[in-house]
Amino acid sequence: MPQAPFVVRTEHVPCPLCALDRPKPYRSRMYRIGDTRFDLVRCPCGFVYVNPRPDGETLGKMYDDADYYTDGYNLGVETENYFARKDELLAHYDGVVAELERTLCEPGDLLELGSAGGFFLAAARKRGWRVKGIEISPPAVEYSRREMQLDIHSGDLFEAPFPEKSFDLVVADNVLEHTTNPEKVLVKLRSLLKPGGHLLVIVPSYVNSPFFRLILFVQRVVPRRFLGPQLVKILKLDPDADPKGGGYPYHILEFDRPTLTALVERAGLKVERVEGSVPLPAEVFKARSTTLRVFLLRTIFKTLDLGMRLGVLPGARLTLVARA
Ligand SMILES: [Zn+2]
Repeated sequence: MPQAPFVVRTEHVPCPLCALDRPKPYRSRMYRIGDTRFDLVRCPCGFVYVNPRPDGETLGKMYDDADYYTDGYNLGVETENYFARKDELLAHYDGVVAELERTLCEPGDLLELGSAGGFFLAAARKRGWRVKGIEISPPAVEYSRREMQLDIHSGDLFEAPFPEKSFDLVVADNVLEHTTNPEKVLVKLRSLLKPGGHLLVIVPSYVNSPFFRLILFVQRVVPRRFLGPQLVKILKLDPDADPKGGGYPYHILEFDRPTLTALVERAGLKVERVEGSVPLPAEVFKARSTTLRVFLLRTIFKTLDLGMRLGVLPGARLTLVARA
């Protein structure tokens, strides 16, 4: 068992959604840092969260890791280093921003919380948006300033120097599941929106879902060889599958459609829509040769994604649009 690269301290927390402190076991030993194990628990309100969780200082050390976006967390659904995917991501986000312009609003003032390498912001800027970012990982801040010439606040949302009511659109893509107090984050984001401005929130929603519970059950009969090590890691079936990306408790909160909607509404925003989808794993969808395994897995993922987008299946990833 590898040693933890820093001192690990934990804290017991009540439900981050409803403040009740009556956790029931959900999945034990889900994550680990070194030899410290972390369990997932479920509140009677339906919310799933890590408890006890790493304390604030320990969480900070996880994100200070220079490998966070390369060899650590980011190599989940993808197989390639995040920064090496620059051109692919810029093209992808150009399409995403074009879709936002069609469905939400014309180019204006845009803030991204958790701006990572800045590819989304750079794509938006090219289309005429005035963009700002907030990012907690020092190497990602440095990269997005140096390589993308972006205006990024390094550090915490609550210390960011942005005036109230200054953005038309605020985006938090894969951020909320990392926060210790998501309601406080959402209230702050709401305060930064101009009246009528939009908030776009994207969260993974797989662990607190019937899919996860089903997969935990059927993995006893499906050979691990069919899934392969990459999918075992993505599906979070084994905290020991890799020492960092699949193991660290980066996600301390697990949303589903009802809990995410309730939280955003409690923060004073009006939810306009919530859509489900599933991230398509690169190992399967960028595979060079179409073996029978790849063909079957592509069919399964595509069918799930369609069902989620049509709303007949719960999403493994949720995209929520709300209005101030
Ligand atoms: Zn609760």
